Amino acid sequence: MRSIYDLSLKDIENYLLLHDFKAFHAKQIFRWLYHKRASDFDQMSDLSKKLIGQLKEDFYISDLKIRDKQVSKDGTKKFLFELEDGALVESVLMIFEYGFSACVSSQVGCNMGCAFCASGLLKKQRDLKAEEIVSQALMVQRELDNEGNRLGNIVVMGTGEPFDNYDNVMKAMSIINDPYGLEIGARHISISTCGLVPGIERFAKENLQYNLAISLHAPDDELRSSLMPVNKAYPLAELMKALKNYASLNNRRLTFEYLLLKGVNDSEKQVKQLKELLKGLNAYINLIPYNKVSEKDFETSSEENALRFYDLLKKNGIAVTLRQKKGDDIDAACGQLRANKLK
Ligand code: SAH
Repeated sequence: MRSIYDLSLKDIENYLLLHDFKAFHAKQIFRWLYHKRASDFDQMSDLSKKLIGQLKEDFYISDLKIRDKQVSKDGTKKFLFELEDGALVESVLMIFEYGFSACVSSQVGCNMGCAFCASGLLKKQRDLKAEEIVSQALMVQRELDNEGNRLGNIVVMGTGEPFDNYDNVMKAMSIINDPYGLEIGARHISISTCGLVPGIERFAKENLQYNLAISLHAPDDELRSSLMPVNKAYPLAELMKALKNYASLNNRRLTFEYLLLKGVNDSEKQVKQLKELLKGLNAYINLIPYNKVSEKDFETSSEENALRFYDLLKKNGIAVTLRQKKGDDIDAACGQLRANKLK
């Protein structure tokens, strides 16, 4: 038995043909699953008894178990889901002026070992299956269904490195993006990577319209390697080369995420280095306040310094945004809720 959420529209079409059914039923099935949010094959009233019987023999539909849910004063909701094997993953629902956004996890734990991040406190247990990534988005949409709202954006910025689980993440995004699936536009889907160059190279060739975000956090190799071990394997020169190649193949603007770490990466020196690094790229920097992780010594930059850094970047002609802080009264940092639960 297999979760039906693991199948793309094309997979269902192939399955149907293999079992002597017409391929067009795949669209009906997808609509039942993702538009009407069916929880049982028996609800699929425009399918034949025979087809429903066949589907039941091979697949199941199941929700994730909600192990914990925290609600922030600003409306941010954080979910801790339990998977079939008992593994725990986090997803976050955020409310922006432009709509509802779900942040989903791509792995159980993470092996990238970034010095400031709570996800790496627990090593990677396994990759998430496509079905488990789709299910996180569906669960968040089910939550919104209670209020009559629609999920409009997906960011793959939860626990895990999406390009370390490339195939499953891409399959999940194709189901989420499908007009018969969750119908979230490609330009409303963002994938964030710590800078795995082979993944970026692969992604560049696919010509997908998803947004690509790079967790930069430091503009020189010495500092970046001290914060992000991945930089030792793929230093900035290699990373920037891959990104320039991506930019030449895709006419898309790149996002560079930049955590504001007090006294670490928020001085004038870094502004000059960033200017040099991003020269000629169609990109902008998204400054992110750091969510305190109790096990780590890092602090977020003071508001005053954050604004100064922001202004300096602007004055130097760098496109920059300052991310609003969401859910900092709950365990909103990546991996925090899960780490606290497992303690
Ligand atoms: N592995 C991917 C995606 C998951 S992390 C990546 O590295 O991009 C998503 C983003 O959250 C990254 O930019 C990451 O550096 C950042 N992040 C990690 N811990 C954080 C914290 N405590 N506060 C704020 N952002 C954090």
